[in-house]
Amino acid sequence: MRCPFCGNTETQVKDSRPAEDHVAIRRRRYCPACAGRFTTYERVQLRDLVVVKKNGRREGFDRDKLERSIRIALQKRPIEGERVDQMISGIVRRLESMGDSDIASDTIGEIVMETLARIDTVAYVRFASVYKNFQEADDFEDFVQELRPPAPEPDTDA
Ligand SMILES: [Zn+2]
Repeated sequence: MRCPFCGNTETQVKDSRPAEDHVAIRRRRYCPACAGRFTTYERVQLRDLVVVKKNGRREGFDRDKLERSIRIALQKRPIEGERVDQMISGIVRRLESMGDSDIASDTIGEIVMETLARIDTVAYVRFASVYKNFQEADDFEDFVQELRPPAPEPDTDA
């Protein structure tokens, strides 16, 4: 594995352990050339997924890209990193088990929203607002209203 800091290909594995409830192996690596340390993950890949975008363009599924968009949505939310990793692995597993290597980008968006909705409402709204690309502030308001049951009347006795 090439060192991300200096490009040296002779890096060493210092530690390997199961991660994400044994879905992945986490390896701590060390680069003797620059003393850099970094982590890699080994995961099962059931199939090579291709994302088909709305405009028909196709590109290889990129787990890191998915992870970035989810982490942005979860920024500063009280969700543990390990749980996020598990969530992402769960989403990827679902995509891989859909029976077709071609996955519409919409399908991925829907699955991410569904998953985030169960984990964190704020992250869900953030992700959905980007994903659904709201043009009008009102659309966004309506959308947020749908998320929660109506709040009880404010207590005016206080
Ligand atoms: Zn290095």
